[in-house]
Amino acid sequence: MGERMALKRKYSKSVGDIIKIKSDFFEKNEEMLKLSAHQADALLLQPKRTKCKICHNPIGADAGQKVLYRSQRMSYFECPVCGHINSEYEDNEDFASRVYISDDYLANYSEDDRQKYETRRDTIYIPKARFLLDALAEDGLQKKDIKLLDDGAGSGYFVSAIRQLGVEQADGIEISEPQVQFANTMNGDDILTQVDAPDIASIIGTAKVNVISFIGVLEHITNLDDILDAVMKNKNVEYIYFSVPMFSMSCIFEAAHQTCYNRHAGGTHTHLFTEKSIAYMTKAIGFEEYATWKFGSDMMDLYRMICVCLDQNGNADLRERFGSRFLPMLDELQEVVDRHEDASEIHMIIKRKS
Ligand SMILES: [Zn+2]
Repeated sequence: MGERMALKRKYSKSVGDIIKIKSDFFEKNEEMLKLSAHQADALLLQPKRTKCKICHNPIGADAGQKVLYRSQRMSYFECPVCGHINSEYEDNEDFASRVYISDDYLANYSEDDRQKYETRRDTIYIPKARFLLDALAEDGLQKKDIKLLDDGAGSGYFVSAIRQLGVEQADGIEISEPQVQFANTMNGDDILTQVDAPDIASIIGTAKVNVISFIGVLEHITNLDDILDAVMKNKNVEYIYFSVPMFSMSCIFEAAHQTCYNRHAGGTHTHLFTEKSIAYMTKAIGFEEYATWKFGSDMMDLYRMICVCLDQNGNADLRERFGSRFLPMLDELQEVVDRHEDASEIHMIIKRKS
């Protein structure tokens, strides 16, 4: 065991470039709200959740618990044991089959698509990859020593970013065939492999890799227990890198603005992590926190909601003025939220206990 390494925690990053990428959220509020309502409809059809997603303690009104809050027709309960925030309905296979509809991907990609791909990778995913590599380097792991498997790799942005930074043995698995094709075409290399959901646990359980990443993935996995169990039992895996949505200021802003799109709680996010539930999960699989980076989109969410509300009540001119005053403050305001541990997202590297 030896001496305990001091935990590394860093906070915040600039959101300036991301606002441009996420401009859809501003312009398509009604459309996004409708999509989210459709996803809520799917969740409301499911059985009530009886066990906490993380610690399996009895949860919900039938277990005698009070509702923590309600938003967009959904009640949320705080687990009394691990602090995880669970929606009242279960995210089972039926829910997943109703909400995870694969996007339309064009058969032919243009040079413009490639440009957009690279911009998104460089703005959003290179910093995530760099955080991982810097942390591993401090633990004596060089790029050539890293063998990484990215689960739920999507369009391959993270794998692409980490390869871009010089890690050669980085691959991803993804359920959606069109996304795999898109990723491999954009990268001019087979960086992702298509896999079927029932095979993922066994792939993860036997992968000859020392790092597994789940970037914005754990919260969507219906059989989370099986996946975590597979990682725990695969002794090749020394580090897990994940990002998950947190119970945070964004949840409260959303609860207070019901005519605005709920990006954070609701939709495909049926449960939210807390510091306490992450610590519970980490310990349960025999890992410990190694490095953490916290930065949220809470203030951008608030900014968006105020803009949408101003538009909705006929104050488009005031919205313009508000934007010009508020946007320059955005990074600083979010930094305060991040430092107070109230950020909407967390990036964490956990390490297997020796
Ligand atoms: Zn719990």
